[in-house]
Amino acid sequence: MKKIEEYVRSIPDFPEPGIIFRDVTSILQDADGLHLAIDLLQDTLKDVDFDVVVGPESRGFIFGVPVAYNLHKAFVPVRKKGKLPCETVEMEYDLEYGSAVIEMHKDSIKPGQRVVIIDDLIATGGTIEAIIKLVESLGGEVVKISFVMELAGLKGRERLSGYDVSSVIRYE
Ligand code: IMP
Repeated sequence: MKKIEEYVRSIPDFPEPGIIFRDVTSILQDADGLHLAIDLLQDTLKDVDFDVVVGPESRGFIFGVPVAYNLHKAFVPVRKKGKLPCETVEMEYDLEYGSAVIEMHKDSIKPGQRVVIIDDLIATGGTIEAIIKLVESLGGEVVKISFVMELAGLKGRERLSGYDVSSVIRYE
């Protein structure tokens, strides 16, 4: 049986020179790779007591929904600004160039709910930091944050210090 690392295609110099892009589509397009990724992600939640999975558009949906479904939990999407139809809370955060605004429905998390955040990859941790602020502004408690991949050199984990962070594959 192949290891999960073997399903990840790494593309040098994408999207710019010097960056090694870790491609999640190569995991998904293999039935065994997809199965293994979801199973390993789910393993990071063993013994975690929670109510809701929160996942950001769009790769957080791919990995968050199967885990929520398997564990019979709710799933709440975090979307780019302008996509959600009801009242929202929003947060602006910095990207490498410029900034982005993400939103959640105001009624998507109830005060006191225990939240797990799932995404494909942590780089600098900026995206997840913004999501934590949104969840906490709605009264949710972030009890776990799980990723398929972690680019450890970018020190995102340090940015999320104080939170319980796990990743399935760690790149130094
Ligand atoms: P952060 O906010 O800097 O942690 O960036 C995380 C986001 O950037 C994730 O949602 C990823 O989808 C995306 N990202 C950054 N680098 C890569 C990569 O090498 N492969 C796939 N996605 C990446």
